[in-house]
Amino acid sequence: MPEAVYDSQKELELVLERCNEAVREPGIPPGLPEGFSGTLGHFPVYFPEEIAHAAGLLPMALLGGGNRMEMKHADARMGSFVCSICRSTTEMGLNGSLKDLSGFVTHPICDAAKHLAGIWARNLPDQVSQILYLPQNVNTPGAVRYIAAEYQRLRGVLEAKTGRKVSDEALRASLRTYNRNRALLREVYALRRDAPWKLSCTESYLLTRARSRMPCEEHNALLERALAALAHRKAPAQDKPRVVFVGGFCEQPPLEMLEAIDESCYVVDDDLLIGMRWLTADVPEGGDPVWALAESYVERSAASPVQHDARKSKEGYLMEMLRGANADAAILTAAKFCEPGLDDQLAWSKHFDEVGVPYLVLEFEEKMTSFEQMAMQVETFAESLLFALA
Ligand code: SF4
Repeated sequence: MPEAVYDSQKELELVLERCNEAVREPGIPPGLPEGFSGTLGHFPVYFPEEIAHAAGLLPMALLGGGNRMEMKHADARMGSFVCSICRSTTEMGLNGSLKDLSGFVTHPICDAAKHLAGIWARNLPDQVSQILYLPQNVNTPGAVRYIAAEYQRLRGVLEAKTGRKVSDEALRASLRTYNRNRALLREVYALRRDAPWKLSCTESYLLTRARSRMPCEEHNALLERALAALAHRKAPAQDKPRVVFVGGFCEQPPLEMLEAIDESCYVVDDDLLIGMRWLTADVPEGGDPVWALAESYVERSAASPVQHDARKSKEGYLMEMLRGANADAAILTAAKFCEPGLDDQLAWSKHFDEVGVPYLVLEFEEKMTSFEQMAMQVETFAESLLFALA
């Protein structure tokens, strides 16, 4: 039998199609993958998925309902000034899309997110409903000890729910699986920085987000296939400015918005889904796995407007992103009604005015459906950058 010829373009299309299919479904994917006894939903920004994975619960990042969801129930339970991701996540809880979750975990990143746990507990009493109290200020001597205690508490809650002990060995195996995932995602982002014409922001986003709807093992295999195919991708570099995109740390911008930006710019770094890439280096696999995860949160982690670390000032980490990606400018976005995001957008734009970095301010909402005006704004911004750089 003749050997099948490896077609890298076809391979990439197949991987992206699988990612697209996974991402398009905001609810629970049908059927539990082998080895899992349930699904644990978690709200952004960061959640230690390894603990759920080791407990045999499929971790599922809840990233909102997208721009096709009809709101029928959530509006009766929250004010009209609450951001879209909180509303659509609540809607999915109430309309039955998430009724088969074993549990839901949120974080005190803002008042809106914190109160989701209460809404969940009242309306979905069969599910575990928890707030994982990650510290907003990690610059205290007891931070690692405190986080490790919170992780142990979560481990106990999941053990009680599943009736199964989470051993250190199972946790170390999960660390290994997720360390592989972290390494692969670092490769994806390195490619974006080195050869952005080979991988658009939208494609990279789909590749990353797919982990929210599948086991990490399957995601690792998809990323390996994608990176192998991308190594062969022939795409000529175009005359586009290099920009950094920020503001996608919690509520997610619609895909069409990313596509509109890709049309005019190379997005060489971003904070999209930053919680899924929160730990920036491998978590040590020997020793106490819970301590290792907690220590990594403090010592080897990214930055976002909802976590405060004196070692990473708002302006400092964004300037570092620009330098690291050799970017010409930034697109500063914020989700509508997102207080932490809007606060940082202001701080960033003020700083850029002082140091002379060009930037474009945009606001988005997951339920946006019209992008023409935004596309024109981005195009005009890109043209002005190219003119200034010429
Ligand atoms: S988008 Fe902003 S306001 Fe909404 S839950 Fe996230 S951090 Fe809170």
